[in-house]
Order: sequence, then structure tokens, then C-alpha cells
Amino acid sequence: MGDWREARTLEELYQAIKDCTRCELARTRTHLVFGVGDPLAEIMFVGEAPGYHEDRQGLPFVGPAGQFLDQLLRSIGLSRDQVYIANTLKCRPPDNRDPLPGELETCTPYLFKQIELINPRIICTLGNHATRTLLRTNTGITQLHGKLIRKNNLVYVPLFHPAAALHKPPLKAVLVDDFLKLGKYLEEERKRWEVMSREPAKVETEPEQMGLF
Ligand code: SF4
Repeated sequence: MGDWREARTLEELYQAIKDCTRCELARTRTHLVFGVGDPLAEIMFVGEAPGYHEDRQGLPFVGPAGQFLDQLLRSIGLSRDQVYIANTLKCRPPDNRDPLPGELETCTPYLFKQIELINPRIICTLGNHATRTLLRTNTGITQLHGKLIRKNNLVYVPLFHPAAALHKPPLKAVLVDDFLKLGKYLEEERKRWEVMSREPAKVETEPEQMGLF
């Protein structure tokens, strides 16, 4: 395994970490779930951890929650292969228990390396755990969902987890509404990036020489 910190592409990162044994979850996983989607995605979705089906298939967001996510993406004119989807943890905690702080500390540097390589315009944290982990906040998803938050040069939009909406139907309408906001945020971020790309690079110039009279 090469040094994952040196990876220049997602594929290099995957090759460097695919046999990771840095925490106990390596012993119980079936597959490490690295992430899937467009390596140049404008939007990246981050969930908590792989569940049963994800662990079996090695893919994030499969099953009914994944289908609902696809439906929400279509509502703003996007498909799954135009975004990138990953989790805070790459291996499934046994019995879907919550990730332990030590596991998150060990695993999330991989996620931040993925974020660095993809350089998305917006990162959507899905659910309480992913939101608290990435934004390092104790404020819950109920207060934060649908808001655009800038932190450490990254742009976040926390959203309810699609699986939560399947269990609590009133959350479905909230998610649909938040996705409409997300579509608008994306338009605004595209414009902001375009303006930034047009701004001349700031370079130090020699002070102008004063004429002598
Ligand atoms: S959860 Fe992360 S740190 Fe732990 S074994 Fe899996 S990839 Fe490695």
C-alpha cells in the first residue's frame, strides 16, 4: 500500500486504502465502501456509514434510501453519476451501531482526501452524524437542514438523511423542499466560482519608480 496522502486521483487513493486495517471495523466488513460517482462532481453527498446492503455490494446508498436519493437528484436535474456519494466511515459498524469517535478520527482523513481530490462546490451532509462530524458542531440537523454553511473554505448544505424520511414520511416534503434550495445554491456557487476564475491572480509588483524633476 502506497502512502494514501500522496494520491493524485481517486483511483490512486482507492488502491492505497482498499485493504485498510487501521480500525477494528476491518475485521467485520465484507467490503470497504469507498464511494462512487463523478470524480469532478459539483456536489458531494456524505452519509454516515455503510449499512447491510452497502457492505454486501461495496457501494454507498443502495436500497430504498438510495432510490429516494436518486429521485431527489432527478428533481433538480441531476443523476447519480453526476454527483459523488461517500460516507464518513468506509466500513460497516456491526449491527449498524453508531460509529465510535475513534473510528471516525481514524477514517475521516480519507474522506477529506476525497474532498480535496474532487473539489466539489457543495458538500451535502446527510443526517445528524455526518453533519456533526464534518461541521464539528453539536447543533442538530433539525436546526441546520437546508442552510448553506461556509467553513474552512468549503461549502456545506446539511440535509435530512433519505432513510430517515422513509421512516418519517413528513420529512419527505422537507427533503424535497431542501433539494429545491440546493438547486438554487448550486446555481449561485457556479456563478461565484466563475467570478473567482476571472479574478486576476494577486501578484506582488515592484513599486513604480517616481520620476525625477
Ligand atoms: S472504517 Fe476506515 S479506518 Fe476503519 S478499517 Fe475501514 S477504511 Fe480503515
